Amino acid sequence: MMRGAVARAGVVCVEEVDDPVPASGQVLVAPVACGICGSDLHLVEAQAAAPDLIPPIVLGHEFVAEVLDYGHGTERRFAPGTLVTSVPYLDSSTGPQLIGLSPVTPGALAERTVLQASRLLPVRRTLTPRPRQSQSRSPWAFMPWEPLRCIQAMCRWWSVVAPLGCQSSPPSELAGAVR
Ligand SMILES: [Zn+2]
Repeated sequence: MMRGAVARAGVVCVEEVDDPVPASGQVLVAPVACGICGSDLHLVEAQAAAPDLIPPIVLGHEFVAEVLDYGHGTERRFAPGTLVTSVPYLDSSTGPQLIGLSPVTPGALAERTVLQASRLLPVRRTLTPRPRQSQSRSPWAFMPWEPLRCIQAMCRWWSVVAPLGCQSSPPSELAGAVR
């Protein structure tokens, strides 16, 4: 099992979810940084409005990740440890899926995810993600990995703009719901 930021009924929580397993043509990666897109916010908002129609989803579709391993029969173009990114699109056994926007393919706001090996683009090491904080009084300090800090940053942003009356897309329930 691994930890992931799961949107469930319009609430984002860190949950234990199944480990992704790379199929043929896929690569297992460890996300090291992940953005939060307006699409994520719209998805959570829509899910809150129609929880029976939109199942739980591990978010995260704008990312940099480190190559861990490959599925069988996959061309290994990049060595383990290489930083990569990709369009968030996966050829799964159930057809094409959008990574981080589908209940079938976990996104990069998780400890691991799978990408399509043929779509990998290398990311130069000079573009290193922010160094991880080792000690903090923050309630998020238990998270040793970067992607969930993005959720924390988003909630801080929302807590600032909400009192100003900003009516942009982030659902107000998200800031208070992340835990
Ligand atoms: Zn996006």
